[in-house]
Amino acid sequence: MMLNEEVRTTCPYCGVGCGLVASRRLGKPKAIVGDPDHPANAGRICSKGSALIETLDLEGRLLHPVVCGMETNWETALSDTARRLARVVRDHGPDSVAFYVSGQLLTEDYYVANKLMKGFIGSANIDTNSRLCMASSVAGHQRAFGEDIVPGNYEDLDLADLIVIVGSNAAWCHPVLYQRMVSGERAARPRSVVVDPRRTATCDGASLHLALKPGTESFLFNGLLADLARRGVVDRAFVERNTEDFDAALAEARSSAPDTVAVARACELAVDDVERFFAWFAENEKTVTLYSQGVNQSSSGTDKVNAIINCHLATSRIGKPGMGPLSLTGQPNAMGGREVGGLATQLAAHMRIEDANHRDIVRRFWRSPTIAERPGLKAVDLFRGIEEGRIKAVWIMATNPVVSLPDADRARAALLNCDFVVVSDCMRRTDTTECADILLPAAAWGEKDGTVTNSERRISHQRAFMPPPGDAKPDWWIVTEVARRMGFAEAFPYRSPAEIFREHAALSGFENGGSRAFDISALAALDDKAYGTLAPVQWPVTAEAPKGTARLLGDGRFFTGAGKARFIAVAPRLPVHSPDADFPLVLNTGRTRDHWHTLTRTGKSARLSSHSSEPLAEVHPVDAANLSLTDGELATVATKWGETVARVRFTPDQRPGSAFLPMHWNDQFASRARANAVVNPATDPVSGQPESKHTPARIIPLKFAWHGFAVTREPCGNTMSEYWVQARGPGCWRYELAGMGTPADWSFWAQSCIGAPERQDEWMAFQNTAARVFRFARFNGSRLEGCVFVSPQMPGVSRSWLASLFAKPRLSPAERVELLSGNPAMADHDRGEIVCACFGIGVRQISQAVARGSVRSVEEIGKLLRAGTSCGSCKPELSAILQRCLATPGDASHEMHAIA
Ligand code: SF4
Repeated sequence: MMLNEEVRTTCPYCGVGCGLVASRRLGKPKAIVGDPDHPANAGRICSKGSALIETLDLEGRLLHPVVCGMETNWETALSDTARRLARVVRDHGPDSVAFYVSGQLLTEDYYVANKLMKGFIGSANIDTNSRLCMASSVAGHQRAFGEDIVPGNYEDLDLADLIVIVGSNAAWCHPVLYQRMVSGERAARPRSVVVDPRRTATCDGASLHLALKPGTESFLFNGLLADLARRGVVDRAFVERNTEDFDAALAEARSSAPDTVAVARACELAVDDVERFFAWFAENEKTVTLYSQGVNQSSSGTDKVNAIINCHLATSRIGKPGMGPLSLTGQPNAMGGREVGGLATQLAAHMRIEDANHRDIVRRFWRSPTIAERPGLKAVDLFRGIEEGRIKAVWIMATNPVVSLPDADRARAALLNCDFVVVSDCMRRTDTTECADILLPAAAWGEKDGTVTNSERRISHQRAFMPPPGDAKPDWWIVTEVARRMGFAEAFPYRSPAEIFREHAALSGFENGGSRAFDISALAALDDKAYGTLAPVQWPVTAEAPKGTARLLGDGRFFTGAGKARFIAVAPRLPVHSPDADFPLVLNTGRTRDHWHTLTRTGKSARLSSHSSEPLAEVHPVDAANLSLTDGELATVATKWGETVARVRFTPDQRPGSAFLPMHWNDQFASRARANAVVNPATDPVSGQPESKHTPARIIPLKFAWHGFAVTREPCGNTMSEYWVQARGPGCWRYELAGMGTPADWSFWAQSCIGAPERQDEWMAFQNTAARVFRFARFNGSRLEGCVFVSPQMPGVSRSWLASLFAKPRLSPAERVELLSGNPAMADHDRGEIVCACFGIGVRQISQAVARGSVRSVEEIGKLLRAGTSCGSCKPELSAILQRCLATPGDASHEMHAIA
């Protein structure tokens, strides 16, 4: 082994698909930085990517197979899995089993799972968590283009004169791409329009923000189509020659959104703003429309996608430099999963399950004994199938549906009642592994090898740079071994991901003849070495285009039967469930800046957890007043589907009548904060994607007898409180606590909460019974082991300063004196809550610099404190803090809840 090595790989988080360089020394990972040679990011990475090195520890890992709660060996676990799956298929038929897989899987993992289910078990009951984020885009592409094709690429953002961002907080969810849009080296920054009910970080610096009524995007884009026709901007020759059904789409647009006044009324926007948007779109040929979950996660998501695509087709702005619709994928390999047929509604290699010819092609290529003949159950329906007992065995791979599915309590109940649940995961305890009969330890990012495809069709290699720990194995290996034990050894001969990739590439070209855009057959002959060094490449990759294809559809050829694009007549529909007197708010769910999915990886990082350490329910101050809410207090977020608890944050960034809840927290990190437990399960009738952005809700103040904050070196075994949220700190764990009942003896309570009964540690205490203020700290010698602060209201202590004390091997006498006050004597020792995760710069440092007159711009903050000068993800927040500080000098309240 070389002393120092570098491995090029790909980020495991969002669909931007940034290239990374992992360096290791003596076989151990030392640093992870952006790959300057990767076309997706040219060396840039965001806060999540730059903190990856902190997430590689083995804490909480599933290291050995577990059957019925007992650790066992692979042979037992694989044989049991295969035997029980085969028995269910034999007794109840192929449709009685299901796989629920993930956009976190590599393409090779996905390929074998899909092959086993659709080609050998003979059912299409394999669906993926990409159903929750991408299905409406997939369906929209298929309807318009005949195939799931993203026409353009990221370079179009550099070339565009107008960028329209619909339903996407790209500044937080696709940060490197967002920074590429706003800090490009171009002479003039492009105009940008953000279409989003919420004012997000992405609105910072936008030319126009259209804070439309939730769910009304189809009115807006129908109105745009009608307006383009009115202005004579429609490319009639292209429409005539290369498309179908334009007249029907235009007639429907004119009927539902005849003019700007009607659009403004339906979307609750100012007429002038609608007119400005329409005029800009008409004037700028080089327009890119980006869209993401705000469009997709809707009961009319597919229609919204087509309403957007209609406008690009009408102006023939598609597949050409600087223009086109661009769907941003949420997950690192959402598109790779679509390529191999990871969705229940399609076959492998973009072939259609309803097409007998396609079924025959795949069956012959696989030499499969049986092939699924009809679409399988989509995610929400699949879990209904489990609930109803139609599905008797389910294998869940690399995902956490008990947290991420809508109506999540119902999903959990279904799993707990299912006859046989297998979960492959790299973590031992998740909300979903708790429902499993068999746990199979999967290799994690950094330990496995394979390919992923990002939002611009770019296939990149994710390479291993450390060995899997314990018995952990790559997912493709696990599926292959189960398939062999089910009697399909001949069809699953794989010994490496390279072998699987070659087969996948060959299938894409098999009897293709140019009928399918997804064709990477030129990669089918890669030998192991060439596969190992495969450079990022955009599909199609064929003999005619061996270096890949930057753009598609620009030649006017589409992949429908007639070779023409299809306009879709979109009759706008409002969300399934409307607010009413009992549930007056529209609840939206989504991501925070520095966390990912269900916290299994980002929850390990102190840096990432410092930005948002607790779920906040964001509401407009007007709604807060109507609902008698108090800023910073805890509240129940209730819907017809369930309840969750979060801390209320007032913000004018919410539209009145709307609220926002982050999706990440779960039972491993909080007492009761699963956002999806309250999300309604309505789905889009075409794509099956759930309506995660629109659930009628009520927020109800929640009264507690006491509130607490604790920091401990080891995780608290028992927080002794009804409400708790835990977050990683530097060498410690942070807890927000609250209780309904008052303990009879607070020192006994503290010993139970932050104590180590077996040790004779030293304790410090401050107790003011009259004021109901109690503070305790535990020391091992001069090393701080834990501290807890309790008061009738949320303790006003410096959380970041207290957490920072745990990074020290010992406390000085002065620090011990300061400790129980909860705040440092010197104000500048308190950074405040962290804003810039890369350099650990807190809100108080920034506000103090502004107060001293040292900084008056985001650039000056960067020069003085370095904040915002690495990944740039925090720049919109720096700007917001700066504005607040300049507007109200001397007002310390801007240091509170500065973090959204
Ligand atoms: Fe990873 Fe951030 Fe790049 Fe997304 S933008 S791929 S999370 S580094």
